[in-house]
Parts: sequence; C-alpha cells; structure tokens
Amino acid sequence: MPRIKKLDTRLSNQIAAGEVVDRPASVLKELIENSLDAGSSSIEIDIEAGGTRRIRVKDDGCGIAAEDITLALDSHATSKIINLNDLEAVATLGFRGEALASISSVSRTELTTNDGEDVSKGMVAQCAGRDMEVEIKAAGRARGTTVDVKDLFFNTPARKKFLRKERTEYSHLEEIFLRNALSRFDVGFRMAHNGKVIYVLRNCDNEVDREQRVAKLLGAQFMQSAITVDVKHAGYRLSGWVAQPEYSRSQADRQYFFVNGRVVRDKIITHAVKQAYRDVLFHGRHPAYVLYFDLDHAAVDVNVHPAKHEVRFRDSRSVHDFIFRSLHRVLADVRPAHNVEATGSPQVQYAGESLSVIDSQASLVLEKNHVRDSVAVYESDAFSSPVTTANYIGLGQEARQGFGVQSLEKLFADQAGAASTDEVVLPLGYALAQLHGIYILAQNSVGLVIVDMHAAHERITYERMKKSFAENKLQTQPLLVPIAVSLSRQEVDCVTANIETLEKLGLVLQVSSDEQLVIREVPVMLASQNAEQLTRDIVADFLEFGSSQRIGDHMDDILSTMACHGSVRANRSLSIPEMNALLRDMEETERSGQCNHGRPTWTQLSIQELDKLFLRGR
Ligand code: ADP
Ligand code: MG
Repeated sequence: MPRIKKLDTRLSNQIAAGEVVDRPASVLKELIENSLDAGSSSIEIDIEAGGTRRIRVKDDGCGIAAEDITLALDSHATSKIINLNDLEAVATLGFRGEALASISSVSRTELTTNDGEDVSKGMVAQCAGRDMEVEIKAAGRARGTTVDVKDLFFNTPARKKFLRKERTEYSHLEEIFLRNALSRFDVGFRMAHNGKVIYVLRNCDNEVDREQRVAKLLGAQFMQSAITVDVKHAGYRLSGWVAQPEYSRSQADRQYFFVNGRVVRDKIITHAVKQAYRDVLFHGRHPAYVLYFDLDHAAVDVNVHPAKHEVRFRDSRSVHDFIFRSLHRVLADVRPAHNVEATGSPQVQYAGESLSVIDSQASLVLEKNHVRDSVAVYESDAFSSPVTTANYIGLGQEARQGFGVQSLEKLFADQAGAASTDEVVLPLGYALAQLHGIYILAQNSVGLVIVDMHAAHERITYERMKKSFAENKLQTQPLLVPIAVSLSRQEVDCVTANIETLEKLGLVLQVSSDEQLVIREVPVMLASQNAEQLTRDIVADFLEFGSSQRIGDHMDDILSTMACHGSVRANRSLSIPEMNALLRDMEETERSGQCNHGRPTWTQLSIQELDKLFLRGR
C-alpha cells in the first residue's frame, strides 16, 4: 500500500461536493438557501441548459464583507454558527459552510457581492475549480450577492456522465424553486430558463397573495379544494393547506412539509399525515398538502443529513400525535355529510365554519373559514351502485368461498337459532345500523358495539391474504384486457428484479419496455379493484424496501397494502345482512380487534356505561 498523504484542498472539496452537489438542482438549492439566510427580499434566478451551463442567483441580501470573500468560498467556513450550542438551535438554512467551497470546486464560479450601500464598493471573486485559487477584483454592485455558477462538473467527468436530459434536470430545478417559493412568502422570486421568464412571484403580505402564489405554483385546482389549517398547541404550530380528499393524486408529488421553514421528508410526519387521511382517502391515492410545522429550534436536530432533507425530533412521539390529531380533526370536519336531494344527485356539505375541539390537555381552536365550495358533487360510486356482500367482500370466487357467502349462511342460521331459542351468543352481536357510512352499530349481550367497518374489513382481508400467501394459494385471475402501465425506469427495473415475488403475490406483470409494463393477472381477491393503482402501490412498496431480502422481510407490509385495496371504503352503505356478515367474519379472524395499522377495529359500551352517561342509577 502506498504511504498516507493529506488530500489537497481542491480534491477534498471535490470529494465533499459529491455529498452536497449531485446535480444542478442541488446547486440551486444551496444558492437560494444562502440568499434566504442573507435576509434577501428578492431573489432572481437565471438558468441555462437545465443548469448545466449556468445557474445564477442574484439577491438583495446583506452581502459579504470584502475581507470575507475568500473565506466564503473556503470549506468549513460559515458565518452562521460558532459553537456547538449554536448548532443545537440553528435557525438558518445553512450552517455547514461547505456549499460554496464544494460548488466552486466543480464549476467556474463567480461571486459578486457588496455588503454596504456604496455601489462602487462591490467585489467580485472568480475561481474555476482550479486549486481553489481565488481572484478578487472591484466591481460595481448594489448591496447583495450574485453567485454565477457555470459549466457544472466541467472538471469532474465522472459526475458529468450522470447528468440527465436538459428537460429532466430542469424539472428538478423547478421543484427546488417551488419548494423555496413556498417556504418564504415574504420574499419575491423570479426565475428564467434559457432567457424565458417562467415565474414571477411578488412578495406576499396577506392571505390572498399567499393563496395566489400557491395557486400559481401548484395549480388553481389545488387551491380551490384546499382547507386552511392553523393549529397551535403546546409550543407547536401547524399551518398551511391540505387538499380535500377529492383532490387526491395518484402520486405523492404534491406533498410539501416544512419544518421551521425547511422542506423535509420525514417518516414520522409522512406517517402522521397518511394516518390522518386514512379514513377519508381511497386507497392508492395520495393526499396533497402544503404544511408548515413550527417549533422551538432546539426541539429539532437538522444536522442529520448533508443536504438537510431529514430532521430528527427530540420528541417524535408528541410531534406525531400533534400532527395526526390536528389533521385528523380538520379532515373529519369536512367529511362529506351526504344528503341526497330530491333530484337524486348526491351533494356534499360542510359542517360549521369553525369549531372548538376539546383536547385532553388544552383546547384547540381550528379555523376553517377557507373551505371554498360549500357544495360539491361527491364522485363516488358508493351512492349510485348498490353494494352486495359479494363486492364488498371482494367479488372473487375465493372470497365467496372463504368468507362472504359461507359466513352469511352461518349468520342466517345463527339468527334463526337466536330468534327461537336465544341461546347463541355472538360476541359482536347483531347489526342495528350504519353511522355516517363509517361505523357499524351493533347490539350484543353487553350493550352497544361500534365497529370501524373499513378497519375491520381491512384486517379480515389482510389475514386471509397472509394465510393464502403462506400456503402458496393466492389465486390469480387473468385480466380480460391486459392493462399497460407507464412507470419510471427505476420502477420497471425493480419489477424485472422481483418478477417472481410479484407473481407469488398474484401479480403477473410483463415488462414491455424500459418504462412500461403490462398487467396480465391479478389476485382473485382483488379482481374487482383498480389493477393499475394496485400495481403502482405494490411497486412503490417494493422500491421502498429495496433489496429482495428486505422485500421478503416486509411481506406483511406488502400484503397489508394489497388488503387495503380490497377493503370496503368509508361512505359505502352496507345493508344489515352485509354488516352482520362482517361482524361474523371479524369473530372468526385472528387479531381482528385491530386493523393492519394497529388502530382498534371495534369498541363496546356496556349498558352500565351508557347508564352512567345518562346519570341513570341502577
Ligand atoms: P453555509 O451556508 O453553510 O454557511 P456556504 O458555503 O453556503 O455555507 O456559505 C458560506 C458563507 O458565505 C455563509 O456562511 C455566508 O456568510 C456567506 N454567503 C454565502 N452566500 C451568501 C449570500 N447570498 N449573501 C450573503 N452571504 C452569503
Ligand atoms: Mg449555504
């Protein structure tokens, strides 16, 4: 082995650049963040050739002192923190002091800045990835900074090879722009690509302006269906907009979550939001939201990822609870209260304008004055098509044999028996009614039973799928007309690598090109479901779990995703026999007390408890 040598600055910066700068979009991210940290009120961005030729960010922030210019380009040089205490409560977007050093080591960078009001006192520093030698000259410039990054990766051909088409790189840049523009309404933004102005966003100082900006960035449709959220509790604040469930998307591409102004993808948060939407969203659909979560800077660690995409909460449990509860409540408020008019067309109306929620620790007031359409047509087949036991159970042959019909027969026998002799004791009793399309109310010997019908059915389907899968008996059914699905290259690769496992799950897929596959067969239990949506979800799960080893370890999660597809949705009306069939299935199914996500599927109120509610002494 050769002797150990210390890396020269340029090489170590280039190596570090691998962490921070992997494509033009990451350069833009770092530059905009620097401008925001500098207190700018207006930021102008010019991009050429998807950012590979040029990314220039011009701001009117505080500028850099002339004597600090070389330091700004140096690695581990920052004005944002001095000691560990600062790091523990960092309020700026940057703090690692690495971005400019990394960027300038892999491009031709020019930094022009002025930290005062005298226009003639500007400075320009140039460095071309070359041994980090910086050349500094005087330059006229108003207060602020312009960083001009040209020919990215010109000296690191290996990196350059990984760049995609201009269009692809541009779409990543646009995404970065979008996030930043959503993160700071008080700042004005302008962005041009190849000389064409794409976005001009004025500074916003009121709600109307802010909503206009969101509509510009995410589409008017999003804003029209958005509900304003603003909840404060015990040092936490959650604000922003969530789209009503009707505006759900097939991809998780309209999900923006900012923690103290920083866009993050966090498992805890994603989970909390998903759970909150659970009851109101059709499976396979993704909620859309722009949410801002603010808390004490010291309560969150942002130094866990080089590009700071992730954070770590000191008290993740309470963060999860707060986010889940707040959103669950907001969404529950707009849960459609369907009243079918004389015309027969179902309409949705929203409950009161604002509502107080009593929480165990404090009372939260949720402002909900921004629900735009007071009446919207609810597009759901739940209203138009009568539901039979067969299709709630999942339609297929397997289903009928396994559960639905058999249990129904048993139920009728039981009922007949119960009616004559009163001997049969059914733990979950007999269905009385359905409440708001969500709960089944039943009477048993103890008192009142309340069942979350979706959660219960999901559990049943899940247990059945697990069993069939374990016994290698998951039957498939060929589709009459195979469905072609476009996916990303990465997704198609994942399918190719796992084609046998997918088959074992009952999904027979055929890869037809780099970005397309054809669905040929689906599991019988899910035959009535949207095969494309099902496939997309399963592929998404596979991708998330990564290696086939991990996919195997997570088979239950995958089966759970599948079960969710085959389960009865909220707002679907069930007949009394269908409800009874579900109760009987629950009694027969292992672990049916909880749904796949650990929520309870049913609860019971004894006559004594009911009596107490009415102060009735017995
Ligand atoms: P960091 O943002 O982590 O501190 P950077 O390498 O991104 O590290 O920037 C180094 C330093 O350069 C910053 O700490 C800041 O003082 C200065 N700087 C960079 N960009 C700007 C800007 N647009 N306006 C003012 N100062 C800037
Ligand atoms: Mg920075």
